[in-house]
Amino acid sequence: MKRIILVRYGEIILKGLNRPVFEGKLVNNIKKSLYGLGKVEVVKSQGRIYVEPLGEDYEFDRAIAKLTRVFGVVSVSPVWKINSSFDDIKFHSLEVAKDLLERNRFKTFKVETKRGNKRFPMESPEISRELGAHILENIPSLSVDVIHPDFILYVEVREFTYIYSEIIPANGGMPIGTNGKAVLLLSGGIDSPVAGWMIAKRGVEIEAVHFYSYPYTSERAKEKVIELTRILSSYCGPINLHIVPFTDIQLEINEKCPQDQLTIIMRRAMMVISERIARAVGALALVTGESVGQVASQTIQSLAVTNAAVSMPVFRPLIGMDKNDVIAIARRIDTFETSILPYEDCCTVFVAKHPKTKPQLAKILLSESRLDMELLISKAVENTEVIKITPGKN
Ligand code: ATP
Ligand code: MG
Repeated sequence: MKRIILVRYGEIILKGLNRPVFEGKLVNNIKKSLYGLGKVEVVKSQGRIYVEPLGEDYEFDRAIAKLTRVFGVVSVSPVWKINSSFDDIKFHSLEVAKDLLERNRFKTFKVETKRGNKRFPMESPEISRELGAHILENIPSLSVDVIHPDFILYVEVREFTYIYSEIIPANGGMPIGTNGKAVLLLSGGIDSPVAGWMIAKRGVEIEAVHFYSYPYTSERAKEKVIELTRILSSYCGPINLHIVPFTDIQLEINEKCPQDQLTIIMRRAMMVISERIARAVGALALVTGESVGQVASQTIQSLAVTNAAVSMPVFRPLIGMDKNDVIAIARRIDTFETSILPYEDCCTVFVAKHPKTKPQLAKILLSESRLDMELLISKAVENTEVIKITPGKN
């Protein structure tokens, strides 16, 4: 008997001829996510992936936590792998039930059997019935409830037999690296980490860009963005974080442009710089955390003027979402607590009291013509610091 992890994946099964490519990526991403936890074998078989530790000291619980963050994984179960003989199945089913009762106050159960191995001499209902009876006989405190059982003992009879009771949901999506690369404009706020996570979930590799206005924003604000990137990397694998010095650009805009245009011109500069970085790293799109109407710079008019600064597609996965929905995701993916730390963002340093909510592109272009944007932007790109962020210990 061996304790292993069963990994289920879903949507990529639909990918027809490309299926082996998607599965290969998923297996690879799984191996990478488990790096450093001990020796392990990752085997794909019949539409599932089995993670089999090779030593006794394997960090099993951490492996499960990591696997639930790999995109493409639908759910994960810790399972017992045993030989497909009915005596063995009977013996171990009881052991697993006893073990569960040591940790939980369960009163009712049912057995659910799937028989993939048609050479096995008993049919599924018969296996379930016999195992149920065997457990009832040996654990008198339990009774069967087929509708709302406290636990289900799943028995899958294949070449080997797998017994388990727990199905831990994961995020689904597509394996990272199956859908190209995009550049995420990552602030220290609540929205952009969620936006990046949503796009990454679809298999898109992410590079992050952060605009940093030292000394108007502090070292700690930068640390916060590094931490947010680290959390994202626990889902995506290592992420390059580009820290762009933005102070000079902001000072210049602040000095030469009308106050009510500051935010929109600044946001256009961010887009232009991000697009350049995207081209340099081979990314095909930009991602932001904007949503319609949330603030003055996110009215439809403002978004249109911001968009006009670049020719690359800009993905805004939160575009139609309410803040509460975004917060719910931020909590679930663990970015919320870091996002609400009270360090300033460069957008909050130079802001007008009454920013334009309906900017006109022609007027914005006229203001921009007073700036030496090209020089400032090239300087900012040149002085960008790139940090490779890897998932933390946990
Ligand atoms: P967030 O919570 O992501 O900060 P927000 O609702 O506060 O978003 P804004 O501050 O207007 O909105 O920013 C809109 C988007 O612009 C952000 O979601 C992010 O993609 C990008 N952005 C804003 N500030 C920065 C920054 N300092 N560095 C990189 N991207 C930024
Ligand atoms: Mg913000």
